[in-house]
Amino acid sequence: MTSRLIRNIGYRVGALLAPEHCRGCGAPLVDGAAPVCPVCVGELFSALPSELDVGAGARGVRNGEVDGCSCCGRELLAEQGICTRCRDADLSLRGHRTLGAYRGLLRTLVKDFKASGDRRLARLFAQRAALVVRAAERQDAVICPVPARPNARRERGFDPALRFAQELAGELDMKLERLLLRPTGVPQKQRNRQERLADPIPGLSLSESGRAFACRTGRTQAALLIDDVFTTGATLDRCSRVLLEAGIETVGAISVARD
Ligand SMILES: [Zn+2]
Ligand SMILES: [Zn+2]
Repeated sequence: MTSRLIRNIGYRVGALLAPEHCRGCGAPLVDGAAPVCPVCVGELFSALPSELDVGAGARGVRNGEVDGCSCCGRELLAEQGICTRCRDADLSLRGHRTLGAYRGLLRTLVKDFKASGDRRLARLFAQRAALVVRAAERQDAVICPVPARPNARRERGFDPALRFAQELAGELDMKLERLLLRPTGVPQKQRNRQERLADPIPGLSLSESGRAFACRTGRTQAALLIDDVFTTGATLDRCSRVLLEAGIETVGAISVARD
């Protein structure tokens, strides 16, 4: 505790000379490693979601962990495993973890990341997400980003989910494979709510490497889907279904924030 306090004071003193400021508290930043100070990072991620067996759903909860709905990650009330909301929406996604609720500083940072593509934020999220994935499960699994709408990628010049996935693959020393293919189709805005709920990603299919992965024998075929913001869960659910229907044995998912 004392050493942490000294580190924090040392950090603050050193920070007085630096030009960039923390997005959380406004304190000057010592180095450019992240756009947010270590104190705010500590507060931002004070509770870890429970550890994830890729695709195997929830496991025992460690000290300080928050266990929630295996599908959306929300806190469970009297429910077991899956919340009523996800059950009613008939979501088949299991083993999804999110780093926190989409509000406050996390919301600011995610919005920042989606607008700028700041790799330091991708690394910050990835370092945190890496703590959630159970080590023993990593070897057989590949990381698969939720494919962006082709237009969105063109407009932004980068793909937030892919960027986060790349950093996480580096952190976990896991292979990244784009298992899914999203065709250029009707823009989401031209589809009504019912159509979007029924099929959130029309034409989503396995990519060539997805087909090769589904045919892989001898090792467990496990995929860890990666997305930036979890909203209704329909997109991740659709991706998970396509992978499972192709014969991929287990599918888990991680998102940065849950809206
Ligand atoms: Zn701060
Ligand atoms: Zn839920």
